[in-house]
Amino acid sequence: GQTVCECYDCYGGIDCSEFSPDCSADAGGGDPIFLEPFWMQNAEKSAIVVSGWHRMSYRYADYTMMSSEVEKYIRKLHSIVGNAITEDRYLVFGIGSSQLLSAAVYALSSENSSSPSNVVATIPYYPMYETQTSFFNSEDFQFEGDTNSWKLNNATKNNMDVIEFVTSPNNPDGELKTSVLGGKTIYDHAYLWPHFTPIPGPSDHDLMIFTLSKLTGHAGVRFGWAVIKDKDVYEKVSKYIEVADLGISKDTQLRVLKLLKVVVEDDGTQLFKFAYAKMRERWDRLNSVFSKSTRFSIQERHPLHCNFFNKTRLPSPAYAWVKCEREEEDDCGAVLEAGKITSRGGSTYRAKDRYARLSLIKSQDDFDLLLLRLTELVSLENGKI
Ligand code: PMP
Repeated sequence: GQTVCECYDCYGGIDCSEFSPDCSADAGGGDPIFLEPFWMQNAEKSAIVVSGWHRMSYRYADYTMMSSEVEKYIRKLHSIVGNAITEDRYLVFGIGSSQLLSAAVYALSSENSSSPSNVVATIPYYPMYETQTSFFNSEDFQFEGDTNSWKLNNATKNNMDVIEFVTSPNNPDGELKTSVLGGKTIYDHAYLWPHFTPIPGPSDHDLMIFTLSKLTGHAGVRFGWAVIKDKDVYEKVSKYIEVADLGISKDTQLRVLKLLKVVVEDDGTQLFKFAYAKMRERWDRLNSVFSKSTRFSIQERHPLHCNFFNKTRLPSPAYAWVKCEREEEDDCGAVLEAGKITSRGGSTYRAKDRYARLSLIKSQDDFDLLLLRLTELVSLENGKI
């Protein structure tokens, strides 16, 4: 008899070899699976084995919650890449960078003040800042929306207590952002890696947050770190992590160490070359489709000198920020959906729905299908179908 296969989403037929013509390209989520082939190539070097009796304690032998080996490798990584200053700075680990985002808001907010600190971000912004700040519903901080509107509305007031999220490179549009208000800032550097942007020089801000998720692609490991200048802020961020979880998983830290050892091999050239080549190739292909379109446009990219690769190059952001140019097409997500492409609408990022975000960091199959659907849409516009 014949075995009936259970096929992946877009395939059917007796041996799953028939491509389903109706299949939608899913460019919605931010899962960084594009790095999976790199870890397949380095499968053995990056593997860990944990015996049942290992790492049972809450703490390490030196009585800390953070592995000093992991700390050492993170500092080494930043010095190789040249994307952040870590000398004379404190490090704090968190469960993904997500946990550190709210720890940072807590640490920078003014306790015992008569009014809560105001948390702002610049549109288009990553929605988690707003979700977390509102969800934790503290007496010490509240979400106040867009930085530029805040600036306009409070132009005459000084000494306002504001905490500004600066996402650089930005999610969704990939821009290298700087602070608008110049007060207390949380720099979210999730995408500050050579895969996605030229590295113009080391970031040297008071509070910077990084994540393993977009560096190695291991979003599921849930590991992030904060680089902090000020001792009081460091102590508050640490207190948050300790009260929330008594520190982060020791198994996670072991896996992180193993992965970072591979990342820093040959001065980081292996992973970063792979990641940048992949992103660059995807952007080249994407560009050639959008350059034939007047109906859709994508963000402009400007070349910068990259200290890591020691050359001038274009950014290759994790996401394409698409604009529907036709007056009547003010819901770009719906226009793309009709073309069998799932995106995230602009309003997710508090921007207009005339914009939509496409993820470029998913698997090769996902990207190839996205490109096929985009090519079909643009050919339609040019009357070639
Ligand atoms: N910051 C930004 C800008 C992000 O896009 C993401 C993930 N999409 C995160 C933080 C959170 O990532 P994680 O919790 O996996 O570190």
